[in-house]
Amino acid sequence: MNDRAEGGRDARVPSPEPRVPRDLSYILNHLGEDRESYRGAVSPPIFQSSIFAFPDVAAMRESFRDEFRRTTYTRGNNPTVEILRKKVAALEGAEDCLMFGSGAAAIAAAAMASVGAGDHVICVARPYSWTRAVLRDLLGRFGVTTSFIDGTEVGNFAQAIKAQTKLIVLESPNSMTYELQDLAAVAQLAKAHGIRTLCDNSYATPLNQSPLGLGIDMVAHSATKYLNGHSDVVAGALCASEAIIRQVFKGPYMTCGAILSPHDAWLMIRGLRTLQIRMQRIAQTTREVIAFLHDQGKVEKIYFPHDASHPQFGLAQAQMQGASGLLTIALRVDDVAGVERFCNALKRFLMTVSWGGYESLMFPVCVVYPSNAPLHPPAGGASLNLVRLSIGLEEPDVLIADLQQALATI
Ligand code: PLP
Repeated sequence: MNDRAEGGRDARVPSPEPRVPRDLSYILNHLGEDRESYRGAVSPPIFQSSIFAFPDVAAMRESFRDEFRRTTYTRGNNPTVEILRKKVAALEGAEDCLMFGSGAAAIAAAAMASVGAGDHVICVARPYSWTRAVLRDLLGRFGVTTSFIDGTEVGNFAQAIKAQTKLIVLESPNSMTYELQDLAAVAQLAKAHGIRTLCDNSYATPLNQSPLGLGIDMVAHSATKYLNGHSDVVAGALCASEAIIRQVFKGPYMTCGAILSPHDAWLMIRGLRTLQIRMQRIAQTTREVIAFLHDQGKVEKIYFPHDASHPQFGLAQAQMQGASGLLTIALRVDDVAGVERFCNALKRFLMTVSWGGYESLMFPVCVVYPSNAPLHPPAGGASLNLVRLSIGLEEPDVLIADLQQALATI
């Protein structure tokens, strides 16, 4: 089902300014927490209960009447998860939010709730790999078609729209080469055609970008990344109007059951407490690391939306309120062995997937290719000299010294 099918009842009027959360510390420290009801405990209890009992039939009947708002069964609602939902919704300036067991689940649920057999989706060319998979491979099996387009030009969206288009999937910036979309312009175009929009905001976080304020209908997060920030929880969030969130709740959320556990929700509430200070520190360190990398002959190119060399630097400055700490470097090497020497030499960047934690990480693109693959694969594939860096909370000098010694091994 889409907004047109619902009579457009959840259509939003974009506000002229992005909605930066006004009282951030209130949201992170207090919003949603009802301390009086749990004896003043400053840290909320973990309601580790699958079910909630009722004093009488009337109360239970009332709960079934609106499972979305009541607490009956933890696959639907749980008081600890509810605290987190309120905080994340407020951060995104959304009417409501659902928390999922992963970012992939949040994106899949948003898509599944928005399309049906015969419908068409437009998606940016290089989304997160499992976003591509859910649209192309999973929904493709159920009669949904997807066009993957270069999202850097608004005109490309206009050209791709068909009568059957019900959803536009955006990821701005993406998490490897950081292409952006003009969110306000795409939202305006989509609204004119009654098409719902979804934006993956994991890279920017709600502190650095407010897609809903720019007119986007749904915002998804891999909360595994910056929102939790401690590399100990896999989680996802979907923020939107109450009408859309209720539709997702009644549909894929309750049907597929990819929920966040109360314990993981509690860990995320704790992780969120320091979101602002982590993002500030990460942005500052990233600036220093990039300044260092610019002077390095062994670094061929830096991919970072807030670097003046980025082709959409102007849009990043206009559309985002700040920078995050994920960047990619292209190494000046003759072969993949040079990339491997660099990565193997790094001591303070852990070699792993994912990003957004307290610790610095690196991901060499060459790991997804066979060891004898050429440095520059045939058209379409990412070059094997790319290494993604996720900057953590270490002292900038420590990271710079580590990069310096690793670059010397190339
Ligand atoms: N979106 C982006 C940009 C990601 O990088 C990821 C995961 O790496 C996801 C979504 C999926 O999130 P999760 O791993 O929490 O399912």
